[in-house]
Amino acid sequence: MKDKTVFERVIEMNQKCDICGSIMLPMYGGGWDNDRIVCTNRECCAEIEFPTSTEYIEKGGSME
Ligand SMILES: [Zn+2]
Repeated sequence: MKDKTVFERVIEMNQKCDICGSIMLPMYGGGWDNDRIVCTNRECCAEIEFPTSTEYIEKGGSME
Protein backbone atom coordinates (compact mmCIF):
# COMPACT_ATOMS: atom_id res chain seq x y z
CA MET A 1 0.00 0.00 0.00
CA LYS A 2 1.31 3.38 -0.89
CA ASP A 3 1.08 6.32 1.44
CA LYS A 4 -1.91 8.56 1.19
CA THR A 5 -1.46 11.75 -0.73
CA VAL A 6 -2.15 15.11 0.85
CA PHE A 7 -5.24 15.23 -1.37
CA GLU A 8 -6.60 12.01 0.13
CA ARG A 9 -5.86 13.16 3.65
CA VAL A 10 -7.60 16.47 3.06
CA ILE A 11 -10.69 14.65 1.79
CA GLU A 12 -10.81 12.60 4.98
CA MET A 13 -10.74 15.79 7.00
CA ASN A 14 -13.97 16.92 5.30
CA GLN A 15 -12.36 20.25 4.78
CA LYS A 16 -14.61 23.30 4.78
CA CYS A 17 -14.01 26.24 2.53
CA ASP A 18 -11.70 28.86 4.03
CA ILE A 19 -13.67 31.63 2.37
CA CYS A 20 -17.34 30.82 2.93
CA GLY A 21 -17.42 27.74 5.17
CA SER A 22 -19.25 25.50 2.68
CA ILE A 23 -18.34 21.86 2.15
CA MET A 24 -15.58 21.26 -0.36
CA LEU A 25 -15.91 18.36 -2.79
CA PRO A 26 -13.02 16.31 -4.13
CA MET A 27 -12.40 16.35 -7.88
CA TYR A 28 -10.15 13.46 -8.77
CA GLY A 29 -7.57 14.08 -11.44
CA GLY A 30 -7.98 10.55 -12.74
CA GLY A 31 -4.47 10.38 -14.10
CA TRP A 32 -4.85 13.20 -16.61
CA ASP A 33 -5.62 16.27 -14.52
CA ASN A 34 -4.57 17.58 -11.14
CA ASP A 35 -6.51 16.59 -8.06
CA ARG A 36 -8.41 19.44 -6.52
CA ILE A 37 -11.10 20.17 -4.01
CA VAL A 38 -13.74 22.71 -4.93
CA CYS A 39 -16.19 24.72 -2.89
CA THR A 40 -19.83 23.72 -3.35
CA ASN A 41 -20.89 27.35 -3.14
CA ARG A 42 -21.13 28.52 -6.75
CA GLU A 43 -20.75 32.14 -5.80
CA CYS A 44 -17.55 31.39 -3.97
CA CYS A 45 -15.80 29.13 -6.48
CA ALA A 46 -12.83 28.54 -4.22
CA GLU A 47 -10.67 25.62 -5.16
CA ILE A 48 -7.46 24.08 -3.97
CA GLU A 49 -5.30 22.30 -6.47
CA PHE A 50 -2.89 19.53 -5.64
CA PRO A 51 0.12 18.39 -7.66
CA THR A 52 -1.07 14.79 -7.65
CA SER A 53 -3.50 13.03 -9.98
CA THR A 54 -5.47 10.32 -8.25
CA GLU A 55 -7.53 7.74 -10.09
CA TYR A 56 -10.95 7.44 -8.58
CA ILE A 57 -12.11 3.86 -8.32
CA GLU A 58 -15.56 3.79 -6.82
CA LYS A 59 -19.04 3.39 -8.17
CA GLY A 60 -21.42 6.31 -8.16
CA GLY A 61 -18.86 8.97 -8.96
CA SER A 62 -19.98 11.46 -11.55
CA MET A 63 -17.89 12.14 -14.60
CA GLU A 64 -18.31 15.49 -16.29
ZN1 LIG B 1 -16.33 28.74 -0.50
